[in-house]
Amino acid sequence: MEQDLSHILNQLGEAREHWMGAVSPPLYQTSNFAFPDVAGLRESLQKEQSIPVYSRGQNPTVAILREKMAALEGTEDALIFASGSAAIAAGVMANVKKGDHVLSVAKPYSWTQKLLEQILADFGVSHTYIRGIRPEEFEEALRPNTRLIYLESPNSFTFDLQDLQAVAELARQKGILTMIDNSYSSPLYQNPSDYGIDLVAHSASKYISGHSDTVAGILCGSRSMMEKVFYGPYMTLGGIIAPFNAWLLLRGLRTLEIRLERSSTTAEWLLSQLENHPKIEHIYYPHHSSHPQFSLAKEQMKKAGGLFTLALKADQMEEIERFCNRLKRFLIAVSWGGHESLVFPACAAYSGGGYQPEDLNWKLVRFYAGLEAPASLLEDILQALDE
Ligand SMILES: *Cc1c(COP(=O)(O)O)cnc(C)c1O
Repeated sequence: MEQDLSHILNQLGEAREHWMGAVSPPLYQTSNFAFPDVAGLRESLQKEQSIPVYSRGQNPTVAILREKMAALEGTEDALIFASGSAAIAAGVMANVKKGDHVLSVAKPYSWTQKLLEQILADFGVSHTYIRGIRPEEFEEALRPNTRLIYLESPNSFTFDLQDLQAVAELARQKGILTMIDNSYSSPLYQNPSDYGIDLVAHSASKYISGHSDTVAGILCGSRSMMEKVFYGPYMTLGGIIAPFNAWLLLRGLRTLEIRLERSSTTAEWLLSQLENHPKIEHIYYPHHSSHPQFSLAKEQMKKAGGLFTLALKADQMEEIERFCNRLKRFLIAVSWGGHESLVFPACAAYSGGGYQPEDLNWKLVRFYAGLEAPASLLEDILQALDE
């Protein structure tokens, strides 16, 4: 398996013999492709999802990435988008129509909430939220018109999980599609298609890019499902990736395995050092023994990555703000998955933007462990707690 992974990251899809041996793949910075004759153009137009005709459809640089991402997720095909949100919206919108119902986990990513609550609601698609930590919750909440079950396991703040196998089995019995936002785990630490999930989405802006220099998204699934998305929202809404950004993601993939390993190890070590700290009320991390779904997390996820949340002991929000402001090694920012360590307190989302802060306790502070020296990250947290 290790062998397979490094082959995917370094070799798969790279026909170097056609590229004068170029080790880094060529960047096809072109919108258009010309044909020697009309018959060639006509033939290619029949297979626009796999043959370059025009770069809103297929582009050779993007094609390499499609092949690698499908292999990493263990699916037949993948499509690449301008953002994770574009990938999620395309996956959902290709599969629901007026009158349908979507059963979703509570608190999905903030802009996924907007998709369900605003855009789809306006088009006559309804939804229900459930916490989803027990498989029976799904069965109880199904409606005759439920078309899609939408998962995010774990979510990216409190890390609630869903039992992927149980939900996929229930959905298959009822002829309902399943889709998951797998950004937290990356394709290296969890492969939902192994459990029977139909559509797997990623924000590639996080671990896959890994350098905080690209916004991008991925959608993985069967060939027929990807064809449905391609000839639906992918081509019509056109939220596609630029060839240069695809090239940056290919570069990010080279080091995905070692970056994730470093982030995970650092996060686990930091938590081991912090777990008995008197100023920490609670630790949230899927692979921490205090997680209520620890055994499910161990089953479904190989590792838990660099993202964790601490509930701090505090009497007022101001203390949380002061703590974050004192941190020197953790940049105050949204997102995660890059080289740099980050901190994002829930209270930063109080009062607007796209976030739903009222759901999140103000004592929660989310950290991302980047690639810096673990000891200096620990020292930084300790000095900020010491105040
Ligand atoms: C960042 C993120 C998204 C959205 O991805 P973009 O690339 O920012 O559009 C979706 N889901 C999760 C869990 C995320 O963290």
